[in-house]
Amino acid sequence: MDQVFAPWRIEWVEREGDDEIDGCVFCAFADTDPSEDRNNRVVARSAHAFVLLNNYPYNPGHVMVIPESHTGDYRDLDDETLLDHARLKQRTFDALDAAMGPDAYNAGLNLGGSAAGGSIDDHLHTHVVPRWEGDTNFMPVVSDTKVIVEAVDDTYDRLHEAFADQEATTVTGTNHAVNLDFDIDTE
Ligand SMILES: [Zn+2]
Repeated sequence: MDQVFAPWRIEWVEREGDDEIDGCVFCAFADTDPSEDRNNRVVARSAHAFVLLNNYPYNPGHVMVIPESHTGDYRDLDDETLLDHARLKQRTFDALDAAMGPDAYNAGLNLGGSAAGGSIDDHLHTHVVPRWEGDTNFMPVVSDTKVIVEAVDDTYDRLHEAFADQEATTVTGTNHAVNLDFDIDTE
């Protein structure tokens, strides 16, 4: 029997130090001093959303595109946030194409609380997982934590460069995420 392939069910895992954050960790990353972006693995930011590397990647390049609004219900997002979040997803595919050249993607949201497998289900996040022909789950293959951390750091550098090469972007410091300006007008 074929198994349903759903890598976005693999949750983002909190790291050492994150437990010092009161409340929602995604809200904390949305609000944090941008000079902490590299540390937090926030690689790109738009007006209402940001791209966070998964520190427990299903595959290299596994990221989450997260609206800044704290809600677990997709229907709560206003038009401006919906469009901004969607544009940031498009740019994320572009950046991953340029940085890593995958053959395909899986992308998805966990909705509906713990039944959907999410532990951070109060705050929407779209998983984007690059796929390669014949790939296998990165994690069982690479069980050495140090190797995974190095791989995630390497992915951060590659994606940061790829986002910075896109149109209408600014980088204000070496540890800052790339800022993307979509010039969205929903009037
Ligand atoms: Zn939140």
